[in-house]
Amino acid sequence: NTEKTEQWIQEYVDGWVEFFKKQTDTGKVADYIPKLEEADPNSLGITIIGKKGTEIRSGDVEHEFSIQSISKVLSFITACMDRGIAYVLQRVDVEPTGEAFNSIMHLEVKGHQRPFNPLVNSGAITTSSLLSGNTSDEKLEPLFQLMEKIIGRRPEIDIDVYVSERDTSMRNRAIGYYLLEEGYLESDLGVTLETYFKQCSINVTTDDLARIGLVLSNDGIHPETEEIIIPRNIVRIAKSLMLTCGMYDASGKFASYVGIPAKSGVSGGILAVVPPRVRENELPFLSGCGIGVFGPALDKQGNSVAGIKLLRHIANSWDLSLF
Ligand code: GLN
Repeated sequence: NTEKTEQWIQEYVDGWVEFFKKQTDTGKVADYIPKLEEADPNSLGITIIGKKGTEIRSGDVEHEFSIQSISKVLSFITACMDRGIAYVLQRVDVEPTGEAFNSIMHLEVKGHQRPFNPLVNSGAITTSSLLSGNTSDEKLEPLFQLMEKIIGRRPEIDIDVYVSERDTSMRNRAIGYYLLEEGYLESDLGVTLETYFKQCSINVTTDDLARIGLVLSNDGIHPETEEIIIPRNIVRIAKSLMLTCGMYDASGKFASYVGIPAKSGVSGGILAVVPPRVRENELPFLSGCGIGVFGPALDKQGNSVAGIKLLRHIANSWDLSLF
């Protein structure tokens, strides 16, 4: 019976991936990082991994792409594990901005003593500065180790993407200088930005994102080894941040129409977390799952056009919304 259900789910997902692949025309591949422009706007892939072992893959799941902003969730988690939640939250708040991810405007809001949240660039660059270590490699080592535990191999940086971003990212430099002037950064600006650009350039697949999502869904516990990889209170904040700030200035809409914590990146990836539902149902994914999506054609906010449509459709038909 389980086999039948899985086959049905597979066919269902395949059908919708094919359908939404043809609906990317309103989107555009990110071009402000020159290397990202090379992606095929019509790609779409999804991996869903359930707590009980069900795995569904459909579309372009072989593709490697840079993790981009999705790394902000992992650097926030790593910083909290390293420095403690209180320390991190004194330096980065947990409030949505309602502004674009790379906005510099909101930083000047009077009376706001720190960047709004770790999932926009200003907060993420600040978070990268909080990671211990004197070099970007030292700072990123715990993040790499955390990822390795989850995805089962040591992650690699796409050097071309890193160089492309490092040499073009004037906006992030501007944000960095502002943060430096305000005294928010805890490490040298050059090292901080290098850390941030490197973490954004880590290569992943939809499978990797689904595995990360599954660990977050499972409150930080590895689904197979049952090791506590991330403390539960940190996972809770990370998921709240994803729900309120993870889809940039479209987070409210995503929470309303899809209703699960998610984080997107400008290369077209989305990491989504489906926490277990109290109400039992014959669908295996209601006991919790992680979802990874890749669809590089982006909307105005910088989110995957087809990826959002696909997630919205699946979440609604399977009743995955938290609400
Ligand atoms: N590396 C990208 C940047 O800082 C990440 C942004 C994103 O994925 N939204 O511009």
